Amino acid sequence: MLFKLPKNVEYILECIHNSGEEAYIVGGCVRDVLMEREPKDYDITTSAKPEHIKKIFQKTVDTGLEHGTVTVLLGGCGYEVTTYRIEGKYEDYRRPKDVVFTRSLKEDLLRRDFTINAMAYNVTEGLIDLYDGQADIEKKQLRCVGRAEDRFHEDALRMLRGIRFSSQLGFNIEEATYQAIRSQSRLISYVSAERIYVEMTKTLLSQEPWRIEALEICGLIQHILPKEYLVLGRSEAYPLLEKVPEVHHLRWAMYLSEILEVTPKELTQVLKQLRFDNKTAQRVLVLIQEEKKPIYADKVYIRRLASQITPERLFDVLELQRAKGYIQLETEKKIRHDLQEIIEDNDCLAVKDLAIHGADLIELGVKKGPCIGQLLHGALEYVLDDPTRNQKEELLDYIQQQLTK
Ligand code: ATP
Ligand code: MG
Repeated sequence: MLFKLPKNVEYILECIHNSGEEAYIVGGCVRDVLMEREPKDYDITTSAKPEHIKKIFQKTVDTGLEHGTVTVLLGGCGYEVTTYRIEGKYEDYRRPKDVVFTRSLKEDLLRRDFTINAMAYNVTEGLIDLYDGQADIEKKQLRCVGRAEDRFHEDALRMLRGIRFSSQLGFNIEEATYQAIRSQSRLISYVSAERIYVEMTKTLLSQEPWRIEALEICGLIQHILPKEYLVLGRSEAYPLLEKVPEVHHLRWAMYLSEILEVTPKELTQVLKQLRFDNKTAQRVLVLIQEEKKPIYADKVYIRRLASQITPERLFDVLELQRAKGYIQLETEKKIRHDLQEIIEDNDCLAVKDLAIHGADLIELGVKKGPCIGQLLHGALEYVLDDPTRNQKEELLDYIQQQLTK
């Protein structure tokens, strides 16, 4: 079997080989080439120690010397080259910090999580597939290297990685591996929230996001989100995920709106716990609050809503409502059309876009203080009803009227 590899990768393998050491491409890229998918990057595994690699190549970066990883820079790209290693003692069901180098490719492959991720390749040796990864690709299945329960005990994150790969690749999880996730699910509570968030995000943004249902079936989600907020057993919810675009906040909003029953305050707490950044959390929160409310196909109503939550978020709400079947196609079309017009016509949607400002009010004799803000908000309301009113003269007249009332 001959792989067609990028020139730089071939060059790196050849240089290491010529220096008397072994080198292979390994892991995800081998899997992807076999599946005729474009690899995201090419990882290289080698018998050579990092110091040796740094001597062979002109430009390198010490990416993770303690893990044996050096990045070789070639033609503006970086290639991670990692020394064969076995992992040290596992503590608390997490991957160990310390690693031990080995001279054996076999041992390096044995520490890897799934058979499809445990293959190596180079031109002289061809494909090295010690754990039947290729057969598992044929069967479209994810299977642990070795005994699944042990592997999840070593590193509980692998359970989520398994579900993530199954959704990215459209694979089933092999029975023994699946049963092991079920029986070891509680170990997920030892994994950091950051890593859980990363894997769940990748799962949600995959080709088959519905497979995230495995988190529920295997009993993982009960250890990730507060049990008291979970609404479980609604398998009809999962196919909805595919119906919204592969966009981070949309997929997350769809997911959380279906499996949680929470107040806005509780949801804020959950999002924080999941390690959402503030901006995205806010976005998801607004979406989940708004998606339940009907939107009327009335331009003034839409302008007001756009002013409250921004037009961008209103488009997001429409995506969610459409996916859930909350809105009729015709209504949605009309709303999108109106919203588009509001944007194109540059209708005023915020106080800062009004034709009058605080200084104008002070000139009219209004005292500095909260009153200014109130008046400007009043003016915005007036303009939202009819955007042609956003003229300085007209607004000053309007303010005068308010002041004499
Ligand atoms: P992707 O295409 O998403 O990057 P990948 O297979 O390259 O997929 P990485 O997380 O980049 O996944 O890891 C590279 C390789 O390192 C994997 O293919 C696997 O062999 C090994 N690996 C990564 N994380 C683990 C883990 N937690 N346990 C065991 N092996 C792992
Ligand atoms: Mg990778």
